[in-house]
Amino acid sequence: MSELNDKRQLFENICQNVSVRVKHQISITRVTCPCCGYPTLKERSRHEICRLCDWEDEGEDDLHYPDDHQYIGGANGAYTLSDARENFARYGVMYPPDHIAFTGSDPEQRRALKQDLMGLYDQLLDAAPSEYPALWKRAITVERSLSKETEKSLKEAYAARLNK
Ligand SMILES: [Zn+2]
Repeated sequence: MSELNDKRQLFENICQNVSVRVKHQISITRVTCPCCGYPTLKERSRHEICRLCDWEDEGEDDLHYPDDHQYIGGANGAYTLSDARENFARYGVMYPPDHIAFTGSDPEQRRALKQDLMGLYDQLLDAAPSEYPALWKRAITVERSLSKETEKSLKEAYAARLNK
């Protein structure tokens, strides 16, 4: 199995029913994004869009189906899982820089939040289970800021389109 999928398996083992207090007590269970490998998804195959790499999860995955990384079409358009992974490794999103994504390229602010978030997720891999709640609490705060940033970009992109 590839290094990425080994890492995903680890994440999926430790991201089960972690009890975290953020305002209220919540229970966190995550599965990993097949493109970037981070625990960003609540469930698989629900068309969730990964907050880190923009991959839309319609279920294809070579973790369970070895040939699935060459599938073209569907929600991720012209990008196979392999292309998307390569782009993520290189550019931090599943698209190459010349692809005009709906949310535009990552502005500096969003890029910085993503770096923070990946750092926190990575710390989970080396942490003791007693440290998971505190790390998740910080991760959730960054995830929320990131969602706000993305929403802001979407609104700006939409307004720009209307003004054309
Ligand atoms: Zn992802």
